[in-house]
Amino acid sequence: MKRKAGLMVHPLQKLINGFERFRSEGIDDPHLFSRLLEDGQKPEVMVIGCADSRVDPGVVTSCKPGELFILRNVAAIVPPYGPDEQPHAASAAIEFGVRRLGVKHILVLGHQACGGIRALAEGTVGLEFMAPWVGVMDDARRIVAGSGLEPEAQLLLLEQAAVLGSLRNLLTFPWIEQRVVRGELTLHGWWFNLAEGRPMAFDPLHQRFVPLSDTIRPIDHRVDVTATGRAAPLSLEGFVARAVEDAGMAPFPGA
Ligand SMILES: [Zn+2]
Repeated sequence: MKRKAGLMVHPLQKLINGFERFRSEGIDDPHLFSRLLEDGQKPEVMVIGCADSRVDPGVVTSCKPGELFILRNVAAIVPPYGPDEQPHAASAAIEFGVRRLGVKHILVLGHQACGGIRALAEGTVGLEFMAPWVGVMDDARRIVAGSGLEPEAQLLLLEQAAVLGSLRNLLTFPWIEQRVVRGELTLHGWWFNLAEGRPMAFDPLHQRFVPLSDTIRPIDHRVDVTATGRAAPLSLEGFVARAVEDAGMAPFPGA
């Protein structure tokens, strides 16, 4: 329904009003920013999320300024390690978070109904920069396309497989791999279920996304996957095969 023009608030006025509300009600500590300025930022968690307006990592996790180091891009994609003379926005943010700030956790946060993942699946005609970017996950696209699932189920599976693909790519950064092996850094993969308004976490042991709980296993080299008979916790083939099995037994989560 169209609202009357007189009642419309200018989008930036909404931001200004929101900032005033944040200043008066949103922070209990009136010295929060001056303290953060003095002490510097020491976030323990880095979130790699999608630019999608519906899934703001700070908002959906009720975190305060200074708590999350956030990288957002189209589809929450991490490219593989590949230093050269080109500017790499995502890799630079990851490097700063890990090597300068020393974050202890990296969380890749994908989500349902992701426009970037849809572009990966269906093409990016008319756009200049999207194809090579979402194409970073082209192997995930190919593997999911071979699953034989219905198109909408494939799209959802691709959103989740891309989270795994990004986690796998994080481990191609040598200084991430070293820290993970030493137990100084742990990786986590979440997928935000918009239909239910809550995230699900990747469980590397069972290779599926499960409701959040206190006992979520991080992804590292010590995960014992022998019980599942599967090769590696971040195998895209293994993940898709598991999802196809699940689809045969029960409705796919979130579908
Ligand atoms: Zn998205």
